[in-house]
Formats: sequence, structure tokens, C-alpha cells
Amino acid sequence: MRNLLFNFKVNKSSHIVRFLFSAVMLLSSLLVQTVCIEAATVDDRIEKFIYNEPKPEKVVYLTFDDGPSKYTIEILDLLEKLDVPAIFFVIGENLDLLSNAEDSLKQIIHRGHYIGLHSMTHDMNKLYDSSNAPQNFVNEMLEVRDKIKEMTDGFESHLCRPPYGGKTHFKSGHYKALEEAGIECIDWNVDSLDWAKPSADQIFNQVVADLKRNEYPKEVVLLFHEKKLTLEALPRVIEYYRDLGYVFMPYYEGQEFECLN
Ligand SMILES: [Zn+2]
Repeated sequence: MRNLLFNFKVNKSSHIVRFLFSAVMLLSSLLVQTVCIEAATVDDRIEKFIYNEPKPEKVVYLTFDDGPSKYTIEILDLLEKLDVPAIFFVIGENLDLLSNAEDSLKQIIHRGHYIGLHSMTHDMNKLYDSSNAPQNFVNEMLEVRDKIKEMTDGFESHLCRPPYGGKTHFKSGHYKALEEAGIECIDWNVDSLDWAKPSADQIFNQVVADLKRNEYPKEVVLLFHEKKLTLEALPRVIEYYRDLGYVFMPYYEGQEFECLN
């Protein structure tokens, strides 16, 4: 009996030890995984796009809204070929609809780009017009952020692109709610209008015209969408900016934009 009791105790405590050991292992593997992903992201960006020390005189941030889409991987391949970093502002509903959404998000990060928040619904009324629009806006950004975090095993975004532009749609409540949530927003100052243009040539001409209209700012935030014609126009657009002396810059946490809301 004494022996049995002893055995039982040993068994019980060895179960507890094993349980604790597994828990510690699981926790540390999760920690390592999170750290690795963050480190990989930063390392990738620094290694691939080390343009920011010192910051060049004329810079351009390339941004793609409304993804991920069936063109995301093609866009990533093209950016890799041309050695250009970008920010992808994704919509939460697309993450549910697109079959390879998870792979697209992971590739965006691992190829050295940044994922930004572009709401769950892209719904004008919910985000700007309804009585609780500021809170809806922030809630949708936090929801898509959580989704991205889950699908990428830990990437947490703090940058948002307001659908249709914040400057023209934000009310004072939006600014307050966003500040409280610690989310930064950025609009654009050159618009490709690629969602409306019927050819790659016209997208290129629009980018050229809008840059000129804006008097060639030292910091350009260039707006594109994930479209087939955009893919066709991109090489020319990138070459055009580089010929003018602009340097394509990666986004990193804590960076401040002049082109803010
Ligand atoms: Zn949009």
C-alpha cells in the first residue's frame, strides 16, 4: 500500500513535471516564433531596402489598397524584380474571401514589405456617416489588425489608410478615437486613379500629371490598387520616379510621414 501510494505520488508528480515542461516548451516556441517573425520582417526590410540612413532628399512610398487579391503575388514578384518596397493596405473581408489570403499576407511580410489596415467593410456609411462612425472606424481597423495578426502568426500593424481618404471624410471624433487606439493614418498625395483608367498608358499619364500638379513634393505617397493594368503600368512608373531622382522607401514602425491626416 505504501509502495503504491509512493508510486502514485511519483507518477502524479512526473505528470505534473511533464505537463509543466510541455507548457514551457510551447510558450517558448511561441515566443521564439513571434520574435523571429518580427526580426525577419525588420531584417528583410533593412537588408533589402537600406535606403533610409541618411534619408534621401526625394522619397516615394508605394502603396496598394483594397487587397489582398488574385494579383498580390504577381505584384510581389514584380516588386522583387524591380527592388522596390511597398505598403499593402488590406481589407478584412478580402481575407475571408480570398483562398490564398494567408499565403499572400505572409509573403508580403517575408519579402520585406509592410501590411497596413484598410478597414473590414470599406463601407462609407459605417466608417464616416453613421452616428457612431468614429468608433466603427477604429473597431474595424482593430478587427482587421487582429485577423492579420492571426494569419501571419504575430505581425501587428499600426498604420491605417482611411478608405476614400481621411482628410476629406474624418470628423473630429475620428482623430480622437484613433489617437486613443494608437493607430496612425496616412492618405496619399499622388493618385494613380488606376481603378478608373482603361489602359496602362492612362495610369502612367495620370501619375505623371498628378505629381506635376502637386509640384514634385520631396515626400510622395503614391496610391495604387491591385489591378491587372496597374501591374502593366508599374515598371514605367517606377522608372519615371527613379529618373527624377526619387528613392523608393520602405515603411518601418515609428516613422513619421509629412503626408499625414
Ligand atoms: Zn480602398
